[in-house]
Amino acid sequence: MSRIAYVNGRYVPHRSAKVHVEDRGYQFADGVYEVCEVFCGRLVDETRHLDRLDRSLSELRIAAPMGRKALLTVMRETVARNRVRNGLVYVQISRGVARRDHPFPDPAPVPAVVVTAKSLDPRAGEKLAQAGAAVITTPEIRWARPDIKSVALLPNVLAKQQAREAGAREAWFVDPDGTVLEGASTNAWIVTHDGTIVTRQADRRILRGVTRAGVIDALARRNLRLEERAFTVEEAKAAAEAFITSASSLVIPVVRIDGTPVGDGKPGPVALALRAALHDVTEMSHVVTPAL
Ligand code: PLP
Repeated sequence: MSRIAYVNGRYVPHRSAKVHVEDRGYQFADGVYEVCEVFCGRLVDETRHLDRLDRSLSELRIAAPMGRKALLTVMRETVARNRVRNGLVYVQISRGVARRDHPFPDPAPVPAVVVTAKSLDPRAGEKLAQAGAAVITTPEIRWARPDIKSVALLPNVLAKQQAREAGAREAWFVDPDGTVLEGASTNAWIVTHDGTIVTRQADRRILRGVTRAGVIDALARRNLRLEERAFTVEEAKAAAEAFITSASSLVIPVVRIDGTPVGDGKPGPVALALRAALHDVTEMSHVVTPAL
């Protein structure tokens, strides 16, 4: 089945979907995005994703191109038209098309909207979770506002490539003070030897992950102890467990940091239990892609 993309008001074949050469997303990375999980034909945590999208847009003073209900309709329609039962829906909004000049165009152009959806094999994610992931650490070289989910991801691209070349899955950005900020596309967590789950406080230095919020909900349900604070690379290497979270990979145990095994070097029980519990606490939309 051929893929379909939504581009500025039209559903078009994915292979011929195009944006303008002077789209400010293309020229300046002047745009924001969201990635939302699709699970069993339903959108997961759509409210949190759209809340974060609204915040990213308003921080960059880009007007919402359509109301929330309309955008949700487009997201669901794109998922359904691509027959995605398990996978991701991607939304990107740029400031729009204007003659190239750095300041905001005046008058403001109509923001450009692209929505795509793709299927992922849930068995591949499960296999990765059971094997665990290696991470490397890398100095923070991003701008000062990674809390805005902007499409300016070049440092993340470089960090991911560095991880891949080192045989690792993820790279953790490390602050000059030695503390872990987050992964290139995930939030970072550790479990201490007394069973406390630790993740960095969601300030302006990291993205406030939607999966991070879901895990915090799951912890509260299970009466597990949470500390939102910075932790060092050394603390992580010596922790009982470590794991990473994102909408595209859910919870993935970390088994090695810069080559050092975490715990016994196998996926930890807390991480695996949180992975299994996540969909019990997340918001689920109605079914948009029924099973065939
Ligand atoms: N941190 C960064 C830098 C990310 O790019 C992402 C996801 O893309 C996350 C954290 C995890 O966020 P979420 O759980 O909302 O996918």
